[in-house]
Amino acid sequence: MIRLSKSKITEAEKKAVMDVLDKEYLGMGQEVFRFEQKLSEFFGIPALCVANGTAALQLACQAVGIKSGDEVLVPSLTYVASFQAISASGAKPVACDIVEDTLTLDWKDAEKRITKNTKAIMPVHYAGGIGDINGIYKFAKKYGLRVVEDAAHAFGSYHNGVLVGSFGDITCFSFDGIKNITSGEGGCVVTKDNLALDKIRDARLLGVENDTVKRYLSERSWDFDVSNQGWRYHMSNIMAAIGIEQLKKFQEFKDKRQLLARRYDKLLMINKSINCLKHNYDDVVPHIYVVKIKGLKDREKLKKVMLDQGIQTGVHWKPNHLLSMYRSSDVLPLPVTDSIYPTLITLPLHVDMTEKEVDFVCEKLINFVK
Ligand SMILES: *Cc1c(COP(=O)(O)O)cnc(C)c1O
Repeated sequence: MIRLSKSKITEAEKKAVMDVLDKEYLGMGQEVFRFEQKLSEFFGIPALCVANGTAALQLACQAVGIKSGDEVLVPSLTYVASFQAISASGAKPVACDIVEDTLTLDWKDAEKRITKNTKAIMPVHYAGGIGDINGIYKFAKKYGLRVVEDAAHAFGSYHNGVLVGSFGDITCFSFDGIKNITSGEGGCVVTKDNLALDKIRDARLLGVENDTVKRYLSERSWDFDVSNQGWRYHMSNIMAAIGIEQLKKFQEFKDKRQLLARRYDKLLMINKSINCLKHNYDDVVPHIYVVKIKGLKDREKLKKVMLDQGIQTGVHWKPNHLLSMYRSSDVLPLPVTDSIYPTLITLPLHVDMTEKEVDFVCEKLINFVK
């Protein structure tokens, strides 16, 4: 079976976890502090670790002051995590349309959806590609919006020679098991905004003020105060120990993901019915490999035919404006999302996949569409 995605775990991660278990301090402590230091060096600006990518997005929203009654612009074509993070902060996610070549947020469409309640925009770096991020920042500046980047797919991607996370307003990553690097579960928030960092440091641990420093020393505070709503969203030492090892291997992971994606592009682009995303894989570290299949009528059949030949495929994702929780009569039409969604299919991509397996997947896909 060629799996759609999987983690890549070696003896190094297993040993790192065993070392934490041996120390018998499992919660947030020195390993988390070390992982944050490594991440901060990687991005060149401060990083804070949290329980998962969704928590990172929710805490980022809260930290930039998003609250009940506010609206946040977000592409409908994203994992429900982006929408749930916004609604968890009390705000309303406003579904926006996407541009066709990268399936990332279309700020020109978002502009039509601005109201007096709009406080922020959450671009999603779909499949690891960044889209027109400069346009989005200009747009945000024009309307005085905060930008919370959902970079769950884009760990290590560059945009015009600049590392994603290093230049933005506030950027969130996921270290879920199948993302570009993993810490089991986990995530981080990266920002230069010191006020936001202070808020997140407390909010991730039930709002207990200044507890972080104590925890990094494997201690905790007893005489504390709480003034804000917090959550139990911190990272554990077990997770951080995995993350530290994964970060060491990132260059290897990146090279392999880019190699496989380039090979997919090369083999599929010549087919007139198959459209690949427009990515430069010198910059983009692909988390998933998605194609659009012109005129695809029956995706379920295609998925079954592929599975029968030992190939797992996926769909990223059912647009959020079609979900019961976010469906609403006041959603303006989303023509690009609605027309592209039925044509999307995600092909296998992970670090243990071989080029031969890419060839096999392409051969079977081309057989189906021709
Ligand atoms: C994975 C993912 C998240 C959330 O990350 P978790 O660590 O799973 O909570 C958010 N947005 C997108 C686009 C994702 O793919």
